[in-house]
Amino acid sequence: MTITAEEKAAIRKRYLAERDKRLRADGNAQYQRLEDKFETFATDPYTPHAAREPVTDHVTFAFIGGGFAGLVTGARLAEAGIRDVRIVEKGGDFGGTWYWNRYPGAQCDTASMIYMPLLEETGHMPSEKYAHAPEIRTHCARIGKQFGLYDKALFHTEVTALGWDETAKRWTVRTNRGDAFTAKYVGMGTGPLHVAKLPGIDGIETFEGKSFHTSRWDYDYTGGSPDGAPLDRLADKRVAIIGTGATSVQCVPHLAKAAKELLVFQRTPSSIDVRNNRPIEPDWFESIATPGWQKRWLDNFVENQSQGMPTEDLVMDGWTELSRRIREKVMAMPPTEWTPDNIMLAFEDADFEKMEEIRARVDAIVTDEDTAQKLKAWYRQLCKRPCFHDAYLQAFNEPAARLIDTDGKGVERITQTGLVAQGTAYEVDCIIYASGFEVGSDYAARAGFDLTGRGGRKLSAHWQDGMRTLHGLQVSGFPNAFIVQPSQAANLISNVPHNIADHAQTIAAIVAHMEAQGFAEAEPTPDAEAGWVELILTNSGMLIGSPDCTPGYYNNEGKGLTDKNRYSLGHPGGAKAFFSHIESWRQSGRFEGLSFA
Ligand code: NDP
Repeated sequence: MTITAEEKAAIRKRYLAERDKRLRADGNAQYQRLEDKFETFATDPYTPHAAREPVTDHVTFAFIGGGFAGLVTGARLAEAGIRDVRIVEKGGDFGGTWYWNRYPGAQCDTASMIYMPLLEETGHMPSEKYAHAPEIRTHCARIGKQFGLYDKALFHTEVTALGWDETAKRWTVRTNRGDAFTAKYVGMGTGPLHVAKLPGIDGIETFEGKSFHTSRWDYDYTGGSPDGAPLDRLADKRVAIIGTGATSVQCVPHLAKAAKELLVFQRTPSSIDVRNNRPIEPDWFESIATPGWQKRWLDNFVENQSQGMPTEDLVMDGWTELSRRIREKVMAMPPTEWTPDNIMLAFEDADFEKMEEIRARVDAIVTDEDTAQKLKAWYRQLCKRPCFHDAYLQAFNEPAARLIDTDGKGVERITQTGLVAQGTAYEVDCIIYASGFEVGSDYAARAGFDLTGRGGRKLSAHWQDGMRTLHGLQVSGFPNAFIVQPSQAANLISNVPHNIADHAQTIAAIVAHMEAQGFAEAEPTPDAEAGWVELILTNSGMLIGSPDCTPGYYNNEGKGLTDKNRYSLGHPGGAKAFFSHIESWRQSGRFEGLSFA
């Protein structure tokens, strides 16, 4: 495909015009929390609360959050001989995001072979290239059982305070269930996407029909099940869904088949590329699952998204395809022309071609021409979470489904009986909010507690001007505490669990070292932390977070990189550079930058 210079100029102009329609002064502040509007929105529809006595004992390691971060850290600690790990989790079981997100069609967007952690250790063969949510949730329980993590876990429990006791040299953990126990070490894996948010639409609390957020799906109302059984109670219902992000893309096909009428309220279309999911064949799996296979696959995925010329692409998905296209563009230029500007232009060219293909795919699938026009995404592919699906666009050909495009404005108002958009009122029985999760808010606000370190210093005060860590994992003045998340580390957004699993290995290595040497405390020296932050700030953050992009959580709702959120970038050399740095750091056994006592 060749795109002429005039066509490129026109596309750039259109991208900016579409962005301008959507920019708004309130940014992240447009959203509100579920519990702020309706208490019932935030309750757990999946597991009944069980009464229990408060715990007041001591454990070696306490981990806040029972998603992949807690599970993999718990597993690595168990392998290192630390058996008394207590995971504290607000849901009714392990799984984190996979506990809450049981909406119909929920499925991982990154290939299961690299997305699902500890496949080799548990011997589990994923059933599909992109596994569905029930399989991932079952895998979480499998990890919990295999590594003994259920024994001390506290479910339906939220940490309210976490403070370092200087005299006892341990952490005190307090919760909303009256617990007050101590731990030598603490880990936090509270996730970037665990606080569900509602759009700030006037009148939202006045609606008298049924409504829920996608992460609290009400199967009693819709019928069906997370395993894919048809939503058989919607046959006489007019259903509205607000939002067209990655979640909506996965559940709309199910709603379109089941509802009497489905209205999809769109503010910004997602880019929908080919999914091409397929079963994993046991013979094939057996042939590749030789010792060390999952690390080879993880490394290969990272390699394929880094500079250089990988010899093979094991995962072969939309992410590696994007990198391959950029590489091909760069390789087509003579090496003398490989300047940073030319490389950015090659990237833009590859992106234009990809997005033109994605827009052409809409025309090829959606029969109604006006609907097709409105489903086209006018921004660069990495401006928003790229989506991949083979039934979403097709859903708009179902007689019950109708796209209500709001031309970037969003739903205007919610009334007792329905919604108003672009001045038109729509009466519905049910409103489903596929409006996402808090991303741009402060860590302490999202976590629900503020870590109190040495001398009563709060983590929020330490991070007042921006995040400060060594390796994205440890903080000076907060001994024996580990924060498991991608920022200031690999920041590999195409496979978030890889970031987490790698941190789990680092934690296990540090803890094993401390236990073997009899150390009571470890934390980064102020110099090591300052040096690491300085390195992170050399990251130009060119691609993600560009203010040229249409607003969304990738670019801080259109506000771009602020002085503060520059600190949340990853290693300037990319994921590969971080992973290789940290692997040698761990293996050296010197734990440079940490002080032990
Ligand atoms: P998103 O934040 O991606 O999407 C929220 C949607 O709500 C957007 O379409 C947004 O529009 C829309 N919206 C917000 N306010 C209004 C309004 N007033 N009127 C109309 N529409 C509105 O949330 P998701 O839950 O879809 O996804 C969150 C993240 O979770 C994903 O980006 C991804 O990282 C992850 N995820 C991963 C999956 C996987 O791996 N399988 C599956 C699902 C989610 P606008 O775009 O204009 O802001």
